[in-house]
Amino acid sequence: MSSPLEQLIWLSRELGREDRKLAILGEGNTSCRASDQTFLVKASGCSLGSMGAQDVTECRFAPLLQLLDRDAVSDQEISQTLLASRVSSSAKRPSTEAVFHAYLLSLDGVQWVGHTHPIMVNGILCSPRAADFATHRMFPDEIVCCGKQSVLVPYVDPGVPLAKAIKTGVQDHQSKFGGLPRIILLTNHGLIAPASSAVGVMTATQMAVKAAEIFNLAAAHGGPVFLDQAVVNRIEGRDDEHYRRQQLGI
Ligand SMILES: [Zn+2]
Repeated sequence: MSSPLEQLIWLSRELGREDRKLAILGEGNTSCRASDQTFLVKASGCSLGSMGAQDVTECRFAPLLQLLDRDAVSDQEISQTLLASRVSSSAKRPSTEAVFHAYLLSLDGVQWVGHTHPIMVNGILCSPRAADFATHRMFPDEIVCCGKQSVLVPYVDPGVPLAKAIKTGVQDHQSKFGGLPRIILLTNHGLIAPASSAVGVMTATQMAVKAAEIFNLAAAHGGPVFLDQAVVNRIEGRDDEHYRRQQLGI
């Protein structure tokens, strides 16, 4: 079994592969739990596709999670807190989105997070049909890998406001469905996959992108025709689908 750092680099390079069209230049970020008190996150401005160990920063959860309980935080204070959260002062500045990574990684069952800006998904998230895509399902494998519904977060300023909006969306989802979302969609921005493994992040991301491609094709033919909620519930609860999830590492 490779180390969390090696797996994070693997996940980042896979998500950043040019042919996948999920992220270019410094877009997107990845993270994983490193210990009870710390996590590894992509450094600001680095490219996912060429990520190396020098582009990963270990941060403490506590100072970043405290930002979520504050009413108003200045940009300067956020910047200082991001730098102060580093375990090593020689490490690069963590991504500005380290705040939402800290929040998601603090949830039971989440050990890995991948955030990307897929062209196919963003085409829908920048359209009036974003909620249709988030709240409906079109085919069984989408339910298995992406869950019954995705969380849809309205557009807000990246950083602490976005982390707070994600927290609200996840809590609403938990109270409605009793479990964590597999996909979080950010309006006019991108996609987040929280999971228990690096492979789980990859699987959920790839299936969400495939679902977006199918949504687009079906829309061109007057659709999509969505699955009934009873069918979605049935697939979600089937034993053989639980087994399939285990096999897929999700
Ligand atoms: Zn982003």
